[in-house]
This record gives sequence, structure tokens and C-alpha cells, in this order.
Amino acid sequence: MTVLSEQVIYMDNNATTRIAPEALDAMMPYLTRFYGNPSSMHTFGGQVGRAINQAREEAANLIGADPSEIVFTSCGTESDSTAILSAIQTNPEKNHLVTTRVEHPAVKNLCDNLEIFTGRKYHVTRLPVASDGTLDLQRFKDSLTDDTAIASVMWANNETGVLFPVEEMARIARERGILFHTDAVQAVGKIPINLKETAIDFLSFSGHKLHAPKGIGVLYVRKGTPYIPFMNGGHQEHGRRGGTENAASIIGLGRACTLAAEMMTEENTRVRALRDKLEHGLLNTIPKSLLNGHPSQRLPNTANISFEYVEGEAILLHMNQVNICASSGSACTSGSLEPSHVLRAMGVPFTAAHGSIRFSLSIYNTEQEVDFVLATLPDIIAKLRALSPFWEDK
Ligand SMILES: *Cc1c(COP(=O)(O)O)cnc(C)c1O
Repeated sequence: MTVLSEQVIYMDNNATTRIAPEALDAMMPYLTRFYGNPSSMHTFGGQVGRAINQAREEAANLIGADPSEIVFTSCGTESDSTAILSAIQTNPEKNHLVTTRVEHPAVKNLCDNLEIFTGRKYHVTRLPVASDGTLDLQRFKDSLTDDTAIASVMWANNETGVLFPVEEMARIARERGILFHTDAVQAVGKIPINLKETAIDFLSFSGHKLHAPKGIGVLYVRKGTPYIPFMNGGHQEHGRRGGTENAASIIGLGRACTLAAEMMTEENTRVRALRDKLEHGLLNTIPKSLLNGHPSQRLPNTANISFEYVEGEAILLHMNQVNICASSGSACTSGSLEPSHVLRAMGVPFTAAHGSIRFSLSIYNTEQEVDFVLATLPDIIAKLRALSPFWEDK
């Protein structure tokens, strides 16, 4: 069965987003007529290089950086790896990392593997979170030692949308002479960011989470920050990342960054209001439903809601039958029955963690779509609970 995108109610934008038509339009000439290598001496290639530099400016503008601080990579994951591996290589005498228990696998698994595959040369402090998903600044401060090479803390959590005070954390790390990286894949384009006013050394983001194509990422490297490339090769990206540039995707990303800046107000007014309507509507009409994550210290587009005594996967399957796309709290660990490490870190009770659904909206969602979900989901949950041995009209 083929499902056309026009028929789909897409509320899974933290997993990936639809490419903006404007971004695709900007890309097309660079997939067809303008195929020159940006490093070539001839004008034909050079014009591609100029378009890439324009995109570099657009990416820099969205996060308040200088274009020279932008390195294009293949994805958010590569940016995360590059920052953390660079920091430990430029600090060979240090053997400690600080991160959180709720990072995306791109950071979490890298840190886990650094411990395991170096025979525990490295040890990692994983900061806990409160039941509302927030982090304690004092605890962060206390975790830093003279051996800490880098602290890596996400700006916004992909599962709950909870925001961390990374600007304060970066300042604290700077005072101790410790590098600070933030995985800002979910934050960039959704909340205003001005890196010039922060002490953040590295910031990662990804094209496909902000209406650019998949397979393109950005690493911000603050001017003067010691840096060792992850991808060695040619002199591309001023020697900071080898490999011929993904020209069309970089150009699409640039356009998407400018659009995101233009849509920032709408994201924080109309999209936020839609999210709130959905969230309040579900919490008010469905018994034993609860919000996961801090009510206000959160991205404007994300609502993670638990429906107790039902399986998230079962809810998703029923939603899928009416073409509503969302994620369950075990999306990143699907295939296993373990609830997500994020909800476990928050201490969400087992009965609630299993029935958690993440709704993540974008500028392309409409009020009609929210109304449809509000009209459909209560029946789905009631039907599933009627079948549940654990649900006896609690
Ligand atoms: C999606 C995501 C990533 C990974 O980005 P890719 O471009 O898919 O590699 C990293 N961190 C967070 C918080 C994400 O949401």
C-alpha cells in the first residue's frame, strides 16, 4: 500500500522533516547544470564554490556565528563525533568526559564506546536528570575536574523537547578551561541562538531536522578552538573536513537556514499554539495520560505524552491506520521492549514509559490536523485499554 504524503498527518518532525520546497528549488540547478567541482580552478567549478560560501553565510547567520566557523559535514552524527574526538585528541593528557544520561545515541554511544574500546582509558560522567527531564547546574559544576577534556550536553532533548541551560554550562566550563560541545540538532531553527554571546566551543546541527535534505550537517567550531579533523583528505572546508562537498545539499541547507530564521516567530507562536492545543486536548480527554518533560522549559513543537496501561507500539499501529505519523518512547530502541533511556533516566514509571508517544510538529502542520488527532486518539486508547489485562477502569 502506498501512502501519499498529502494524505499523511505528519507529526514526527523530530525524526526528520519534509524538505522545504524553497530549499529543493535552490538545490536543483546544482544537481543538474552546475556540476563543477567547487575546488576547480575554472569559473565553472568556482561558481559552485561561491554558492557554497553563500550557504555558509546563511548557516552562520541562523546561529549568530561567523561563516569561517562553519564546517559542513555529512550529518548531525558526524558533527557530534568530530567535536568530541577532536577535543580528546587536542587534550591527550586528559581522560574524562562529562555528558548526560539523556543524550541522543550519536553522543551516548560514542561516549560508551570510548570507555569500552580504549580499555577504560576514558571515563565518562553521565549527569542524571530530574523527573521533569531538567538538569541541575550545580551538579554539572561539581562534575568537572582537571582531567575533563570536554563536556557535551544537548541543547534540546529529541524525545521530550526539554531545554538545557547550555549557555550557562559553557560559561562554567570555560572558567575551568574545559571545552564545551552542544548537540543542538533539535534546537537550531526552533529557538533563537546567538553563539557570539556564548562560550560554546562546538555546536552540531543537521539539515534534515530543519527542512533541508538528509545527509548534510554542520559543525560550528569557535574561532581559535584547537581542532583536529575527523575526515582527513583534501583541503576542503579549509582543511577541517576532507571530501568533495555535497554541493546541492549544502545549498539546500543554506536556504533552509534562512527560511528557519524567517519562520522563527511562527514556530514560537502558531506552531507552539497548535502543540499546546494538541497537548491540552489529549491530557484533558484521555484519563491516565501525563506529560513527560518540563511544561515550559521545552521546544515549541514537541509534546511527549504517556497513556498508561497501553503499549506505545500498539498506539502507533492504530494511528498508522488513519495515516497519523508520530513516534513512541522506544523509537530509537525499537526491536527491544526496553523503554527509552530518556524516560528511564527521568524515572517515568514502567506502565507510563511503555505507552509514551512523541508528537513533534512543524510549520507545515495545520489546526485541522490537530483537530483530527484529537477526534481520533481517545477512541484508539479506549479500544486498546479494553483489551489490556492491566487496565480495569483505573
Ligand atoms: C537526529 C539527531 C541527531 C542525528 O542527526 P543525523 O543528521 O540524523 O545524524 C543527533 N542528535 C539529535 C538530538 C538528533 O535529534
